[in-house]
Amino acid sequence: MRIDILTIFPKMFDPVLNESIIKRARIKDKVKFYIHDLRDYTSDKHRKVDDRPFGGGSGMVMRVEPIFNCIETIKRKEKKPKIILLTPQGKRLNQDKAKKLSKLSHLILVCGHYEGVDERVRSNLADEEISIGDYVLTGGELPAMVLIDVIVRLMPGVLGNKNSLNFESFEGNLLEYPHYTRPSSFRKMNVPEILVSGDHHKIEAWRRVEALKRTKKRRPDLLKR
Ligand code: SAM
Repeated sequence: MRIDILTIFPKMFDPVLNESIIKRARIKDKVKFYIHDLRDYTSDKHRKVDDRPFGGGSGMVMRVEPIFNCIETIKRKEKKPKIILLTPQGKRLNQDKAKKLSKLSHLILVCGHYEGVDERVRSNLADEEISIGDYVLTGGELPAMVLIDVIVRLMPGVLGNKNSLNFESFEGNLLEYPHYTRPSSFRKMNVPEILVSGDHHKIEAWRRVEALKRTKKRRPDLLKR
């Protein structure tokens, strides 16, 4: 997969794309990132990416030209990318959406700032608008990183153990069962005996029941699905 990111803070991505699973995915050539500084796509000497809103009001709005210029440059080289605008007004991201996106070959992520982007980006460029939750962040960079992380770990061959994806929260509309590791007893807090019994059938059944109990208590909405 190729992922292009349009941002006015390109350096924010360095630490995230160069650590852990995302770094490994890059090294394995599963994903390539192209980070575009929107100031490079301006045509004035101050490299202005924002301006005052028509009609007045507080804050600044991200200008339409740099975003169009950048996406047109990318599109000239590539065929059919999906253009995603990160916005709190978008459809809320979930695991199903991430799975669908992880199967595509090219994504372009547009990160807004200030009061957001000129509406013409939303209405004439974006294929999809995605929100990472019902709260407002300063910019689209952190949402873009969240989206990248969720998508990249779902790509075949990225996680060391592919079973990790089959037994995790939201698979089959369940939350995952509880985990424990050594020591089996810590300050009189003991690991459930069944987990150290070595009986794999019973362990599997216990985990299933715990996952159901946990989902019923914390996310009954998932069970209904
Ligand atoms: N004025 C906008 C509104 O009320 O809907 C909020 C703008 S926000 C301060 C600036 C940028 O941060 C947005 O353009 C978007 O790119 C990003 N952003 C903020 N919250 C987000 C969220 N929950 N999900 C995705 N992107 C978000």
